[in-house]
Amino acid sequence: MDNKFSFKCLNCEQEYKYKKNLYFCESCGCEKGILDVVFNYKILEKNNTELKKNFSSRNRDMWRYKELLPLNDIYRDHINIGWTPLKSLKYNIDFKVFIKDDSKLPSGSLKDRASSLAVSLALNNPQISTIAAASTGNAAAALACMCAGTKLRCIIYVPDNAPKEKVAQIRAYGAEVIEVSGGYDEAFSECLKACNKHGWYNRSTGINPFMTEGKKTVSFEICEQLDWSAPDVIYVPIGNGCIIGAVYKGFYELHKVGLIEKIPRIIGVVSKGSDYMYRLWKNNGDESRTESTSINTKATSISVKLPKDRLKALRAINKTNGEIITVTDDQIFESVLELARCSGTFAEPGGAASYAGFKKVPPKKNEVGVILVTGSGLKDISSLLASGTLDIDNIDYIQCS
Ligand SMILES: *Cc1c(COP(=O)(O)O)cnc(C)c1O
Ligand SMILES: [Zn+2]
Repeated sequence: MDNKFSFKCLNCEQEYKYKKNLYFCESCGCEKGILDVVFNYKILEKNNTELKKNFSSRNRDMWRYKELLPLNDIYRDHINIGWTPLKSLKYNIDFKVFIKDDSKLPSGSLKDRASSLAVSLALNNPQISTIAAASTGNAAAALACMCAGTKLRCIIYVPDNAPKEKVAQIRAYGAEVIEVSGGYDEAFSECLKACNKHGWYNRSTGINPFMTEGKKTVSFEICEQLDWSAPDVIYVPIGNGCIIGAVYKGFYELHKVGLIEKIPRIIGVVSKGSDYMYRLWKNNGDESRTESTSINTKATSISVKLPKDRLKALRAINKTNGEIITVTDDQIFESVLELARCSGTFAEPGGAASYAGFKKVPPKKNEVGVILVTGSGLKDISSLLASGTLDIDNIDYIQCS
């Protein structure tokens, strides 16, 4: 690890040099002291023609952007993550819209980008032999997938409502699973306690500052696939807020080093049954006025009582003139089907929420939009069947509406 980056607290703006066991700002604590990884953008900007050439000349995976990653690619894990398709959706003549299909990653969700970085970091720290995470399923599956075939022991804390398909996938990769009664929030604190006690590396979203770094590569790819230009608007589902924060950071950094001319409007999509982020944004980020209520949505990947990365999520919305919109579970399940029928992209409910958001607030005239599909439909078929949206006994051909 070199000194190519430092940490900066999002809350008090204090800067830290890289230290191996630093997860959050020491003055602000675990809840508030979320750390941002910052690079020396000025130096990168100076040679940005060279930078772009280097990016484009490398293998088609997320490590091609190594100048903007916190770990040199010679230390990377053995699984090729990244360079997922950007497909054009024939939808409307008024605007252009693309689907960025991260359901195609090896474990079936965008979380692979973050886990690739986490495992690479862990493998390169001789003091670490165990890596753990709390997850509603996808981050865990991604972590277990990346750990498979390495010397790392992988321990996963899942809430008891995690879909059986996801737990099966985690177990199939060989990880240990600890089921925690309650939701994601409870699994998160159990995992944190165990990591502190045993000195395990904690990959949980919202505490590990590097997860944003892996996930931001999705924005790098989108811009490169659009011939080094940014879309006007992008639709992103929100659970903990890590993905949306990372999507913003990716565009922000490319803009900062002069490789794109603008940063898109970022539209975050939450389920009505898990809408803390929406209410927090409406309350101008004032947490004292925003109640953390009980949650009720079948879209398990975006079912979170108190989003851990809410600061980064708010920054993404506020800095880009974006907004957060709510959609119902019915709209989400209809989106799963429409997305599958009209584009051949089979997404899980949380992964299709972005499409539901696009339907509700489409791009403006002549704009270019990107719908980020974050996870595969194969991961949660039971909730699709249970929703009653899909009639599998009816054998009639159904056309794209
Ligand atoms: C994790 C996840 C999300 C939400 O991402 P956050 O970083 O928690 O906001 C959305 N969709 C899928 C498929 C996911 O796995
Ligand atoms: Zn701080």
